[in-house]
Amino acid sequence: MCYMQRIVEMIDIKKIRADFPILQREVYGKPLVYFDNGATTQKPRVVVDSIVDEYYSVNANVHRGVHFLSQQATVLHENSRETVKQFINARSTNEIIFTRGTTESINLLACSFGEAFMEEGDEVIISVMEHHSNIVPWQLLAARKGIGIKVIPMNDKGELLIDEYKKLFSEKTKLVSVTHVSNVLGTINPIAEMIEIAHANGAYVLVDGAQAVPHTKVDVQELDADFYAFSSHKIYGPTGIGVLYGKEDLLDRLPPYQGGGEMIQTVTFEKTTFNELPFKFEAGTPDYIGTTAFAKALDYVTAIGLDAIAAYEHELTTYATQRLKEIEGMRIFGEADSKGSVISFLVNDIHHFDMGTLLDRLGVAVRTGHHCAQPLMQRLGITGTVRASFGIYNTKEEIDVLAEGLKRISSMF
Ligand code: PLP
Repeated sequence: MCYMQRIVEMIDIKKIRADFPILQREVYGKPLVYFDNGATTQKPRVVVDSIVDEYYSVNANVHRGVHFLSQQATVLHENSRETVKQFINARSTNEIIFTRGTTESINLLACSFGEAFMEEGDEVIISVMEHHSNIVPWQLLAARKGIGIKVIPMNDKGELLIDEYKKLFSEKTKLVSVTHVSNVLGTINPIAEMIEIAHANGAYVLVDGAQAVPHTKVDVQELDADFYAFSSHKIYGPTGIGVLYGKEDLLDRLPPYQGGGEMIQTVTFEKTTFNELPFKFEAGTPDYIGTTAFAKALDYVTAIGLDAIAAYEHELTTYATQRLKEIEGMRIFGEADSKGSVISFLVNDIHHFDMGTLLDRLGVAVRTGHHCAQPLMQRLGITGTVRASFGIYNTKEEIDVLAEGLKRISSMF
């Protein structure tokens, strides 16, 4: 038996499913098949319990109280930062900024980096497969500061053209901001190589890791990423929490993003001095209840093991691709050699919205539409797709429900 098979067999799917109470529910009288994990994942009991327990037994504002509860809440909150640090192998907790999610992490960087490191005429490189949250912040910066935006193209399999990428650099290129894994195509971009190329051209790199961190081991030091953004809710944690990782020497040189409590050292009406990292970027009361629960989610994933998760999800995706290809008129968008657990598709000329609505009636939750990637849809020449995205609790039996449902629906048209 090969190594991959051995680690897949270590996954106790029954036990994992039992950890997620929502998977027991029915939709329209059918067992729920939840294939919208790219949008958000379901939460295991340990995560929800953590939220309830902390509100009931610890709740107090962090960092500013001498009293027992405040100190206990602060310890929990800062321990969570340590958990995140270890999860992505950052050098220090000073490099872990808590945000509201990937979107806020990218906006933070666009504002701060744009302010300190970019001037009119400078350029940022993004790719054709970016989520809107890695396009619009750069457009806002372009409108404010007159920077240019260049776009890495892709081939028809959905792989970025690295030779074309190399040609986009000029002495004006200050930053590459690119997704690690596409939320539509599932493409796993060769991010380490792309970072090396950027650095050789004197540019920094921000990686949008929203779709990578839940499915594969990410080591920011090994990647040599300058900045890395991701969201808690896509990795079985609560909504409203995210992370911006940044190399400490770079974060030190960036100005604050928002002003308020927590991010200051001293304030007079004439002048304010700023707090040290990471607090300089965390104005206001943080979601400390959320960060504790987020750490529980990371511990949960770590206990299963990211290698096992990646292998198991790879097996699911391979099986699903094979089953979907049995369906007449099936078009799959994104067939990169290196691909994560996302399948975007259309069947004949059935509208993605109709397909999604009919699948829903069978209890199958998929996403339909442009998936916040309208420029990518334009590149593909379509208005949207149906997207099935898998998580650690999904099974081959559920994929059979999807495949049989698709067959039934397409025969109706
Ligand atoms: N980037 C990618 C690739 C995504 O898939 C998403 C969400 O779907 C985001 C960014 C935005 O994440 P959030 O809404 O958690 O900020």
